[in-house]
Amino acid sequence: MRILIVGPPGAGKGTQAAVLSAELGVVHISTGDMFRAYVDSETELGRQVKAYLDAGALVPDEVTNVMVAQQLTEDVCRAGFLLDGFPRTVGQAEALEALLRDRDCEIDTVLAFDVPEDQVVERLLARGREDDTEDVIRHRQQLYREETAPLLDFYSDRLVTVPAVGSVPDVTARALDALRTRA
Ligand code: AMP
Repeated sequence: MRILIVGPPGAGKGTQAAVLSAELGVVHISTGDMFRAYVDSETELGRQVKAYLDAGALVPDEVTNVMVAQQLTEDVCRAGFLLDGFPRTVGQAEALEALLRDRDCEIDTVLAFDVPEDQVVERLLARGREDDTEDVIRHRQQLYREETAPLLDFYSDRLVTVPAVGSVPDVTARALDALRTRA
């Protein structure tokens, strides 16, 4: 199974991606986690990446697409994967399509996490990550609306909407149901 999770910041993508990938036995690939690991590594690339994360800006495609290409090996394609936080733009989605074509595999299902914006801000402020200040959250939300939301049209043939409100187990159950209806 090859799955994408798309949703606004604070929709619970990371939490659900970890639970769902374990449940389904597929590889969890999170670009946000990868970038945070870069930042922790305290290398020059880590310092450059930190500036983007702190500002809630997108890391340039030259870095992001290469990093994803390294992770999405043929073995991972065969095993199945769940991508969380990538693609975030139509350009990245096109790069992903080309990469998967090379590996002779494709995305089966795109889970679109749907959550009202006021709940999202509350969740993010409660999470308290370093890039969760109100200004940065607002910027990430604007980027989502402008750059990422068009993916819902891009993937309209494989899209299932999952209401991402309620408890973590409730949302997991809804996502698993949605995947079953696509299988
Ligand atoms: P996330 O953990 O998905 O909220 O991502 C945290 C931050 O990592 C984002 O605000 C961006 O700065 C960066 N990031 C994550 N995924 C991407 C991506 N696909 N393209 C560009 N930047 C990304």
